[in-house]
Amino acid sequence: MDRYCVFGNPIGHSKSPLIHRLFAAQTGEQLSYEALLAPLDDFVGFARAFFAEGLGANVTVPFKEEAFRLADELSQRAARAGAVNTLKKLADGRLLGDNTDGAGLVRDLTVNAGLELAGKRILLLGAGGAVRGVLEPLLAEKPAELVIANRTVAKAEELARLFSDLGPVLASGFDWIDAPVDLIVNGTSASLAGELPPISPSLIQPGHTVCYDMMYAKEPTAFNRWAAEHGAARTLDGLGMLVEQAAEAFFVWRGVRPDSAPVLAELRRLLG
Ligand code: NDP
Repeated sequence: MDRYCVFGNPIGHSKSPLIHRLFAAQTGEQLSYEALLAPLDDFVGFARAFFAEGLGANVTVPFKEEAFRLADELSQRAARAGAVNTLKKLADGRLLGDNTDGAGLVRDLTVNAGLELAGKRILLLGAGGAVRGVLEPLLAEKPAELVIANRTVAKAEELARLFSDLGPVLASGFDWIDAPVDLIVNGTSASLAGELPPISPSLIQPGHTVCYDMMYAKEPTAFNRWAAEHGAARTLDGLGMLVEQAAEAFFVWRGVRPDSAPVLAELRRLLG
Protein backbone atom coordinates (compact mmCIF):
# COMPACT_ATOMS: atom_id res chain seq x y z
CA MET A 1 0.00 0.00 0.00
CA ASP A 2 1.36 3.49 -0.88
CA ARG A 3 2.13 5.28 2.39
CA TYR A 4 1.31 8.90 3.22
CA CYS A 5 1.18 10.78 6.51
CA VAL A 6 0.98 14.12 8.27
CA PHE A 7 3.84 15.19 10.54
CA GLY A 8 3.09 17.49 13.47
CA ASN A 9 3.64 18.01 17.16
CA PRO A 10 1.06 17.84 18.65
CA ILE A 11 -0.85 15.83 16.05
CA GLY A 12 -3.68 14.07 17.88
CA HIS A 13 -6.25 16.66 16.80
CA SER A 14 -5.43 16.35 13.09
CA LYS A 15 -8.34 15.86 10.70
CA SER A 16 -6.01 15.11 7.79
CA PRO A 17 -6.14 11.27 8.10
CA LEU A 18 -9.94 11.34 7.90
CA ILE A 19 -9.92 13.77 4.96
CA HIS A 20 -7.38 11.76 2.95
CA ARG A 21 -9.07 8.44 3.69
CA LEU A 22 -12.33 9.93 2.41
CA PHE A 23 -10.52 11.22 -0.71
CA ALA A 24 -8.94 7.78 -1.29
CA ALA A 25 -12.28 5.99 -0.93
CA GLN A 26 -13.95 8.47 -3.27
CA THR A 27 -11.29 8.26 -6.01
CA GLY A 28 -10.47 4.55 -5.64
CA GLU A 29 -6.80 5.36 -5.00
CA GLN A 30 -5.07 2.64 -2.95
CA LEU A 31 -3.16 4.35 -0.16
CA SER A 32 -2.71 4.54 3.59
CA TYR A 33 -2.52 7.84 5.51
CA GLU A 34 -1.61 8.22 9.15
CA ALA A 35 -0.91 11.00 11.65
CA LEU A 36 2.67 10.84 12.96
CA LEU A 37 3.98 12.67 16.02
CA ALA A 38 7.42 13.88 14.93
CA PRO A 39 9.94 14.71 17.68
CA LEU A 40 10.57 18.42 18.18
CA ASP A 41 14.33 17.88 18.24
CA ASP A 42 14.66 15.61 15.19
CA PHE A 43 12.08 16.34 12.54
CA VAL A 44 14.57 15.78 9.73
CA GLY A 45 15.69 12.33 10.92
CA PHE A 46 12.10 11.28 11.52
CA ALA A 47 10.94 12.50 8.11
CA ARG A 48 13.86 10.83 6.31
CA ALA A 49 13.08 7.51 8.03
CA PHE A 50 9.45 7.77 6.87
CA PHE A 51 10.50 8.49 3.30
CA ALA A 52 12.60 5.33 3.13
CA GLU A 53 9.21 3.78 2.28
CA GLY A 54 6.65 6.59 2.27
CA LEU A 55 5.63 8.50 -0.85
CA GLY A 56 4.25 11.74 0.53
CA ALA A 57 3.53 13.76 3.65
CA ASN A 58 1.70 16.78 4.87
CA VAL A 59 3.49 18.95 7.38
CA THR A 60 1.83 20.99 10.09
CA VAL A 61 2.80 23.07 13.13
CA PRO A 62 5.64 23.53 14.00
CA PHE A 63 7.58 21.89 11.17
CA LYS A 64 6.67 23.80 7.99
CA GLU A 65 9.92 25.81 7.95
CA GLU A 66 12.03 22.71 8.69
CA ALA A 67 10.26 20.89 5.86
CA PHE A 68 11.11 23.83 3.62
CA ARG A 69 14.80 23.31 4.43
CA LEU A 70 14.53 19.52 4.08
CA ALA A 71 13.11 19.64 0.53
CA ASP A 72 15.60 19.04 -2.28
CA GLU A 73 13.42 20.95 -4.73
CA LEU A 74 10.71 23.57 -4.16
CA SER A 75 7.61 24.52 -6.10
CA GLN A 76 7.45 28.22 -6.91
CA ARG A 77 4.61 28.77 -4.43
CA ALA A 78 6.54 27.02 -1.63
CA ALA A 79 9.65 29.08 -2.38
CA ARG A 80 7.56 32.25 -2.04
CA ALA A 81 5.76 31.02 1.07
CA GLY A 82 9.03 30.14 2.82
CA ALA A 83 7.25 27.08 4.19
CA VAL A 84 6.29 23.59 3.02
CA ASN A 85 3.06 21.81 3.95
CA THR A 86 3.34 19.03 1.36
CA LEU A 87 6.31 16.76 0.63
CA LYS A 88 6.40 14.35 -2.29
CA LYS A 89 9.05 11.73 -3.01
CA LEU A 90 10.11 12.06 -6.64
CA ALA A 91 11.03 9.09 -8.87
CA ASP A 92 14.74 9.60 -8.13
CA GLY A 93 14.13 9.63 -4.36
CA ARG A 94 14.59 13.38 -3.90
CA LEU A 95 11.92 15.31 -2.00
CA LEU A 96 9.75 17.98 -3.62
CA GLY A 97 8.43 20.62 -1.21
CA ASP A 98 5.15 22.32 -2.04
CA ASN A 99 2.72 24.60 -0.22
CA THR A 100 -1.00 24.12 -0.86
CA ASP A 101 -2.38 26.33 1.95
CA GLY A 102 -2.82 29.42 -0.22
CA ALA A 103 -4.43 27.52 -3.08
CA GLY A 104 -6.76 25.99 -0.47
CA LEU A 105 -7.85 29.38 0.84
CA VAL A 106 -8.36 30.86 -2.61
CA ARG A 107 -10.36 27.86 -3.78
CA ASP A 108 -12.53 28.00 -0.66
CA LEU A 109 -13.18 31.70 -1.22
CA THR A 110 -13.75 31.59 -4.97
CA VAL A 111 -15.25 28.15 -5.66
CA ASN A 112 -16.97 27.16 -2.41
CA ALA A 113 -18.07 30.64 -1.31
CA GLY A 114 -18.43 31.98 -4.88
CA LEU A 115 -16.55 35.22 -4.17
CA GLU A 116 -14.92 37.32 -6.87
CA LEU A 117 -11.59 38.69 -5.60
CA ALA A 118 -10.49 40.71 -8.64
CA GLY A 119 -10.69 44.44 -7.99
CA LYS A 120 -11.60 43.94 -4.33
CA ARG A 121 -10.10 45.56 -1.22
CA ILE A 122 -8.80 42.77 1.00
CA LEU A 123 -7.55 43.06 4.57
CA LEU A 124 -5.39 40.24 5.91
CA LEU A 125 -4.92 40.14 9.68
CA GLY A 126 -1.66 38.58 10.92
CA ALA A 127 1.80 38.18 9.43
CA GLY A 128 2.77 34.65 10.48
CA GLY A 129 3.25 31.50 8.45
CA ALA A 130 -0.38 31.17 7.40
CA VAL A 131 -0.57 34.70 6.00
CA ARG A 132 2.77 34.38 4.22
CA GLY A 133 1.53 31.15 2.61
CA VAL A 134 -1.60 32.74 1.14
CA LEU A 135 -0.15 36.00 -0.19
CA GLU A 136 0.95 34.78 -3.63
CA PRO A 137 -2.31 33.00 -4.55
CA LEU A 138 -4.39 35.91 -3.19
CA LEU A 139 -2.40 38.48 -5.19
CA ALA A 140 -2.77 36.27 -8.28
CA GLU A 141 -6.51 36.98 -8.07
CA LYS A 142 -5.73 40.66 -8.79
CA PRO A 143 -7.34 42.45 -5.83
CA ALA A 144 -7.42 46.28 -6.04
CA GLU A 145 -5.54 46.40 -2.76
CA LEU A 146 -4.28 43.95 -0.17
CA VAL A 147 -3.43 45.31 3.29
CA ILE A 148 -1.55 43.15 5.81
CA ALA A 149 -2.25 44.34 9.36
CA ASN A 150 -0.33 42.85 12.25
CA ARG A 151 0.32 43.40 15.96
CA THR A 152 4.05 43.50 15.22
CA VAL A 153 3.99 45.95 12.34
CA ALA A 154 7.58 45.22 11.28
CA LYS A 155 6.52 41.67 10.30
CA ALA A 156 3.70 43.02 8.12
CA GLU A 157 6.16 45.45 6.52
CA GLU A 158 8.59 42.64 5.80
CA LEU A 159 5.89 40.58 4.06
CA ALA A 160 4.65 43.58 2.07
CA ARG A 161 8.20 44.18 0.90
CA LEU A 162 8.74 40.51 -0.05
CA PHE A 163 5.54 40.32 -2.10
CA SER A 164 5.30 43.85 -3.53
CA ASP A 165 6.41 42.67 -6.99
CA LEU A 166 3.24 40.56 -7.24
CA GLY A 167 0.65 43.29 -6.67
CA PRO A 168 -0.58 46.22 -4.56
CA VAL A 169 0.29 45.03 -1.04
CA LEU A 170 0.57 47.39 1.95
CA ALA A 171 1.45 46.97 5.64
CA SER A 172 -0.42 48.40 8.62
CA GLY A 173 -0.93 48.31 12.34
CA PHE A 174 -4.35 47.11 13.56
CA ASP A 175 -5.48 50.59 14.62
CA TRP A 176 -4.22 52.56 11.63
CA ILE A 177 -7.12 51.61 9.37
CA ASP A 178 -10.88 52.19 9.50
CA ALA A 179 -12.22 52.54 5.93
CA PRO A 180 -14.54 49.68 4.89
CA VAL A 181 -13.10 46.79 2.88
CA ASP A 182 -14.72 44.02 0.82
CA LEU A 183 -13.09 41.05 2.55
CA ILE A 184 -11.34 40.57 5.89
CA VAL A 185 -9.33 37.36 6.39
CA ASN A 186 -8.22 36.64 9.95
CA GLY A 187 -4.91 34.78 9.78
CA THR A 188 -3.86 35.54 13.36
CA SER A 189 -3.82 32.84 15.97
CA ALA A 190 -5.80 35.11 18.34
CA SER A 191 -8.96 33.04 17.81
CA LEU A 192 -7.20 30.01 19.31
CA ALA A 193 -7.27 31.88 22.65
CA GLY A 194 -10.77 33.26 22.03
CA GLU A 195 -9.25 36.71 21.45
CA LEU A 196 -9.76 39.33 18.76
CA PRO A 197 -7.28 41.46 16.87
CA PRO A 198 -8.14 45.02 17.97
CA ILE A 199 -9.49 46.39 14.68
CA SER A 200 -12.17 48.99 14.05
CA PRO A 201 -15.72 47.73 13.37
CA SER A 202 -15.95 50.44 10.71
CA LEU A 203 -13.82 48.18 8.49
CA ILE A 204 -17.04 46.20 8.03
CA GLN A 205 -19.55 47.72 5.65
CA PRO A 206 -22.80 46.23 6.96
CA GLY A 207 -24.42 43.85 4.52
CA HIS A 208 -21.39 43.97 2.20
CA THR A 209 -18.12 42.94 3.84
CA VAL A 210 -17.33 39.21 3.98
CA CYS A 211 -15.29 37.97 6.96
CA TYR A 212 -13.22 34.78 6.92
CA ASP A 213 -11.46 33.24 9.90
CA MET A 214 -8.74 30.73 8.96
CA MET A 215 -9.49 29.01 12.25
CA TYR A 216 -12.50 26.72 12.61
CA ALA A 217 -14.30 25.28 15.57
CA LYS A 218 -17.61 23.71 16.44
CA GLU A 219 -18.96 27.08 17.55
CA PRO A 220 -18.40 30.32 15.58
CA THR A 221 -14.96 31.78 16.36
CA ALA A 222 -14.54 34.99 18.38
CA PHE A 223 -13.65 36.85 15.18
CA ASN A 224 -16.69 35.57 13.29
CA ARG A 225 -19.00 36.40 16.21
CA TRP A 226 -17.57 39.93 16.26
CA ALA A 227 -18.01 40.20 12.48
CA ALA A 228 -21.63 39.04 12.62
CA GLU A 229 -22.38 41.50 15.43
CA HIS A 230 -21.11 44.32 13.23
CA GLY A 231 -23.22 43.34 10.23
CA ALA A 232 -20.83 41.32 8.02
CA ALA A 233 -22.66 40.04 4.93
CA ARG A 234 -21.21 36.56 5.52
CA THR A 235 -18.89 34.90 8.01
CA LEU A 236 -16.86 31.89 6.89
CA ASP A 237 -14.45 29.65 8.80
CA GLY A 238 -11.29 27.81 7.77
CA LEU A 239 -12.65 24.26 7.54
CA GLY A 240 -13.05 24.67 3.78
CA MET A 241 -9.44 25.88 3.52
CA LEU A 242 -8.31 22.78 5.41
CA VAL A 243 -10.18 20.42 3.06
CA GLU A 244 -9.09 22.33 -0.06
CA GLN A 245 -5.39 22.39 0.87
CA ALA A 246 -5.69 18.62 1.42
CA ALA A 247 -7.38 18.15 -1.98
CA GLU A 248 -4.56 20.10 -3.62
CA ALA A 249 -1.95 17.95 -1.81
CA PHE A 250 -3.78 14.78 -2.92
CA PHE A 251 -3.60 16.08 -6.49
CA VAL A 252 0.16 16.79 -6.15
CA TRP A 253 0.75 13.22 -4.96
CA ARG A 254 -1.67 11.21 -7.08
CA GLY A 255 -2.50 13.39 -10.10
CA VAL A 256 -6.20 12.95 -9.26
CA ARG A 257 -8.32 15.82 -7.91
CA PRO A 258 -10.92 14.62 -5.39
CA ASP A 259 -14.35 16.23 -5.14
CA SER A 260 -14.00 18.23 -1.92
CA ALA A 261 -17.67 19.14 -1.43
CA PRO A 262 -18.92 15.82 0.05
CA VAL A 263 -15.81 15.56 2.25
CA LEU A 264 -16.32 19.09 3.58
CA ALA A 265 -19.98 18.27 4.26
CA GLU A 266 -18.97 15.10 6.15
CA LEU A 267 -16.44 17.03 8.27
CA ARG A 268 -18.98 19.74 9.02
CA ARG A 269 -21.41 17.00 10.12
CA LEU A 270 -18.80 15.36 12.38
CA LEU A 271 -17.73 18.73 13.82
CA GLY A 272 -21.32 19.76 14.56
P1 NDP B 1 1.96 32.00 13.53
O1 NDP B 1 2.30 31.66 14.92
O2 NDP B 1 2.96 31.87 12.45
O3 NDP B 1 1.47 33.55 13.50
C1 NDP B 1 0.53 34.02 14.41
C2 NDP B 1 0.03 35.41 14.01
O4 NDP B 1 -1.03 35.76 14.89
C3 NDP B 1 1.08 36.50 14.13
O5 NDP B 1 0.85 37.46 13.12
C4 NDP B 1 0.80 37.09 15.52
O6 NDP B 1 1.17 38.44 15.68
C5 NDP B 1 -0.71 36.99 15.55
N1 NDP B 1 -1.29 36.93 16.90
C6 NDP B 1 -1.14 35.95 17.83
N2 NDP B 1 -1.87 36.23 18.93
C7 NDP B 1 -2.49 37.42 18.70
C8 NDP B 1 -3.37 38.22 19.46
N3 NDP B 1 -3.77 37.87 20.69
N4 NDP B 1 -3.82 39.37 18.92
C9 NDP B 1 -3.43 39.74 17.68
N5 NDP B 1 -2.59 39.02 16.91
C10 NDP B 1 -2.13 37.87 17.41
O7 NDP B 1 0.62 31.18 13.21
P2 NDP B 1 0.10 30.69 11.78
O8 NDP B 1 0.27 31.81 10.83
O9 NDP B 1 0.71 29.38 11.45
O10 NDP B 1 -1.46 30.40 12.06
C11 NDP B 1 -2.40 31.45 12.22
C12 NDP B 1 -3.82 30.89 12.24
O11 NDP B 1 -4.18 30.32 11.00
C13 NDP B 1 -4.05 29.80 13.29
O12 NDP B 1 -5.30 30.06 13.91
C14 NDP B 1 -4.12 28.53 12.47
O13 NDP B 1 -4.93 27.56 13.10
C15 NDP B 1 -4.75 29.04 11.19
N6 NDP B 1 -4.46 28.19 10.02
C16 NDP B 1 -5.49 27.55 9.37
C17 NDP B 1 -5.27 26.76 8.28
C18 NDP B 1 -6.43 26.07 7.62
O14 NDP B 1 -6.21 25.20 6.78
N7 NDP B 1 -7.66 26.42 7.93
C19 NDP B 1 -3.91 26.55 7.73
C20 NDP B 1 -2.88 27.27 8.46
C21 NDP B 1 -3.17 28.04 9.57
P3 NDP B 1 2.69 38.85 16.03
O15 NDP B 1 3.45 38.77 14.73
O16 NDP B 1 2.56 40.24 16.52
O17 NDP B 1 3.18 37.87 17.06
